[in-house]
Amino acid sequence: MIISVASGKGGTGKTTIAVNLALSLSNVQLLDCDVEEPNCHIFIKPVFENKNIVFIPIPQVDSKKCDGCGRCQEFCAYNAIAVVNKEVLIFSELCHGCGSCTYFCPNDAIEEENKKIGIIEIGKKNGIQFVHGKLDVGMMMSPPVIRAVKKHVNKKKTVIIDAPPGTSCPVITAIKDTDFVILVTEPTPFGLNELSLAVEVVRKLKIPFGVIINRSDLGNKKTDEYCVRENIPILMRIPFSKKIAEIYSRGDSIIETLPEYRENFQRLFENIKQGKNWLRIK
Ligand code: SF4
Ligand code: SF4
Repeated sequence: MIISVASGKGGTGKTTIAVNLALSLSNVQLLDCDVEEPNCHIFIKPVFENKNIVFIPIPQVDSKKCDGCGRCQEFCAYNAIAVVNKEVLIFSELCHGCGSCTYFCPNDAIEEENKKIGIIEIGKKNGIQFVHGKLDVGMMMSPPVIRAVKKHVNKKKTVIIDAPPGTSCPVITAIKDTDFVILVTEPTPFGLNELSLAVEVVRKLKIPFGVIINRSDLGNKKTDEYCVRENIPILMRIPFSKKIAEIYSRGDSIIETLPEYRENFQRLFENIKQGKNWLRIK
C-alpha cells in the first residue's frame, strides 16, 4: 500500500506525520518527495548508500538546419521556446524536457543535451528503506526529480510518501498513483482555506483520503465542521504540545521520545487499511 502525506500549505506538521508513521510500521519505505526542501532525513538519520543524478533533456537548435518555421514554439506547452524573426530562443529554466519540440521539428534541427537538475539519495536506517530527492538551487522543475524518487517505490513494502506542500504540479506528481492521501492541516482560517483547495485536488484525482488535524486544540472548530459537512473522515487529532515542539526542534522523532504515539500511528495505519473502500468520497 502506498500512502502519501500532503498539506495545502507548509508548516502543518506533514513531515512529522510521514516520519513517525514510517517509524511506527514494519517493512516500510519512506520516500521524501518534498524535493525543494527535503527534511525527513533530519529525523530518520539514514546511512546513504547510493546517489543518482537527475537530468532533463534540454533542446539545442542547429541553426544550419532550422528554417524558423515556428512549429517547436507551437508544440511547447510550457512557453519554454520562442521563435522571433526566425531565430529560436530556448528558456531552459522553463523547459520540462518533454521532447515535443524535438519530435515535431520538421527539419531535424533539434538535438537534446542533458542538464542536471537534482540528485536522488538512497539509504536505510533500522529496517526503513529511505529515498529522497534534492532539486538543485535555482531550478524550478521539481516534477522530474519527484518522478525519479518514485521510481524507487518498492511495492513489497508499505510505502509512505512525504509530498511537497501546496496544490500545484509537484503535489499532483507526488500523490498520483498512491492508494491513500493523508491531508494534514491545522484549525485556523488559513489552514482551512488551504485544506479545502487540497481536498479539491485529491477528489479530482479520485484518491481516497482523510484528514489529520494537528495542534487541534488551537484555533477554531470550523475545520471539524467542514470535514463533517463534506463527509471527510478525521483520522487523528494531535493537540498542541510543547514537548512535541521541542522534540521536533531537536530533530528527534515523536515516537522515540513519547512511545505512546507509536500505537496511535499503528492504529491510524490499520484504520486506513481497513477503510480503504468506504473512504472513497464523492
Ligand atoms: S521546429 Fe525546427 S525548424 Fe522549425 S523553428 Fe523550431 S527548430 Fe527551427
Ligand atoms: S522539451 Fe518540451 S518543454 Fe522543453 S522546450 Fe521542448 S517542447 Fe518545450
